[in-house]
Amino acid sequence: MSKTLKMILQNIIKGPSTIKYPFEDSPAPEKLRGKIKHNPEACVACHMCEYVCAGGAIRIQESDDHKGIDFVVWHNTCTYCGLCEHYCPTKAIQLTNDYHTAHLQEDKYNYTERTVVRKQPCTRCGEPIIPFPSYLIEKLYGKDGDQKGLTKMCESCRRKAVWEGGAIKC
Ligand code: SF4
Ligand code: SF4
Repeated sequence: MSKTLKMILQNIIKGPSTIKYPFEDSPAPEKLRGKIKHNPEACVACHMCEYVCAGGAIRIQESDDHKGIDFVVWHNTCTYCGLCEHYCPTKAIQLTNDYHTAHLQEDKYNYTERTVVRKQPCTRCGEPIIPFPSYLIEKLYGKDGDQKGLTKMCESCRRKAVWEGGAIKC
């Protein structure tokens, strides 16, 4: 059997080496820097990611109903630099390995994703506050958590509670 014929037979047995993308999904390396993902439950709306964003792809502002904070990512302009993920103090923003970001030029201004960081009332005075994420609570208080409920208060009530001895139950 000639070398060429042998190779053809081997390839037929082995099957195709290519993937019929986009008709079937193609796996991406785990560490590939793709589309960013924001977790509003973990976000404290500190604006750090917006500040460091190289592409100006993040906008954070008070929502129209004043009940939360709108977090908008404009995927069209993201450069996948990873600075937002690196500087986020609560790990609320992460780059995924999702590379499916191709879109039509006319859609570039609409290629956004919006999440809302919901406020909750201060347990003392009722003023809306951005809740502490569990990640930060564990960092601050360890596994036992915030026994005195200080993280559920606004800054001013927290100060008062600490002044009074912090013996507040929620
Ligand atoms: S995602 Fe992180 S860095 Fe951005 S506003 Fe939220 S907590 Fe701050
Ligand atoms: S990966 Fe870079 S460009 Fe994209 S949103 Fe984060 S900081 Fe901005």
